Amino acid sequence: MSFVLHVDAARWRAAQDAAAARYPGVVPVVKGNGYGFGRDLLCAEAGRLGASTVAVGLYAELGPALDAFAGDVLVMEPFRARVHDDLARLDARQQADAGRGVHTVTSAVDLEALREVAPRARVVVEALTSMNRFGAPVAEVADLAHRADAEGVTLHLPLGTGHVEEISRFVDAAPDVRRWYVSHTSPGELAELARRHPGRELLPRVGTSLWLADPAAHEVRAHVLDVRPVGKGEHAGYRQRPLAPGHVVVVSGGTSHGVAMESPASAATPRARAVAVVEGLLEAAHRVTSPFTVGGRRVRFAEPPHMQCSLLSLPAGGAVPSVGDTVPVRMRLTTAYPDAVELH
Ligand SMILES: *Cc1c(COP(=O)(O)O)cnc(C)c1O
Repeated sequence: MSFVLHVDAARWRAAQDAAAARYPGVVPVVKGNGYGFGRDLLCAEAGRLGASTVAVGLYAELGPALDAFAGDVLVMEPFRARVHDDLARLDARQQADAGRGVHTVTSAVDLEALREVAPRARVVVEALTSMNRFGAPVAEVADLAHRADAEGVTLHLPLGTGHVEEISRFVDAAPDVRRWYVSHTSPGELAELARRHPGRELLPRVGTSLWLADPAAHEVRAHVLDVRPVGKGEHAGYRQRPLAPGHVVVVSGGTSHGVAMESPASAATPRARAVAVVEGLLEAAHRVTSPFTVGGRRVRFAEPPHMQCSLLSLPAGGAVPSVGDTVPVRMRLTTAYPDAVELH
C-alpha cells in the first residue's frame, strides 16, 4: 500500500468525543468516501460514540451502511418515484433489516409512491430551506409530516451561522413535529433553539466537524517510487514537457486517489487560478504547486498527475528523497481515496 491515510487513533477519537459532547444527540454523517476514512470505519466509530442513527447521502449507500452499523440509517437524498424505481429490491433488503432504514420525502406524490412499494417505510420529511436544494415548502411541511406519520423533519442549512430565525420559522409552522434534524447548525445555535422550543428534540447531522475536527490527528503519506537527476533540456511525461534542472521524483498518488481534484481556489496565484479555470483543473495542475511535500518543500507537478502516481519536479539544491521514503500529502479528505487507512 503506498498512498495511505495514517490516523493517530487516540487523538482522532478524542476529537470525535469532544465534538459529540458539543453536539448532543449527534447523527454522524458517513456519506460519500466516508470523509477519506471510509464508510465502514465511520460506522464503527459512530457505534463507539453510542449514536443510534447514522446518515448516508444516497440510496446506493444504504445497504453497505446497514451492514456496517447496527442502528438506524437515514438516507438524506429524497425518495423520488421516477428516480428510485428499483425500490422494490431495496424494500426486500429493508424488511430483512427490521426496518432500520429511514427515507426522506419532500412531496405527497413521492410519499404515495413510496408507500405503494414499502407500506411500512419509515419516513422523515425534508423542508425547503434557503439552501434551495430540495424540500417541501414551509406551508406544506406540517401537512406532509402528518400524512407521512413522519418521525421528524429535516432541515439542511447553508454553511455559516444565523440559522436560529430560519429554523424557528419551520418549527413554529409545524407545532406537532417533535423531532428536528438540522445540518450546519452550531452548538450555540442549538442551545438557543432548545431554549426557544422546549419539548422539541433537535438532532444535529454532523460530518466535517465530527470526523475532521482535528487536522493534526491524521496525515496522508505517499511513497517515493523513483528519483532521477535531470539536466537542462530534458523532458518527461505523456506531454514531454521540459523539466527544470534538479530531480524528477515519482510518487504514489494520482487522480484515482483524488490528487489534484481540488477546486481552483487552492491554486497558488491569481494567474494559476485563472489558468485552472481556463484549462480545466488537471491541465492546470502542472503549473501549480502539488500537494506533495518533499524535503520540507511543497513541489510542483512535472505534468498533470497520472491515474495512480504523479511526476514531481524537484528543483536543484535541497534534500533529495530516496525510493521507499514517504512524503506528506496535503489534500482535502472529502475528495481523497487512499489505498489504505491505518490507525496507529
Ligand atoms: C453532507 C451533509 C451533512 C454533513 O455536512 P458536513 O458539512 O460534513 O457536516 C449534513 N446534512 C446534509 C443534508 C448533508 O448533505
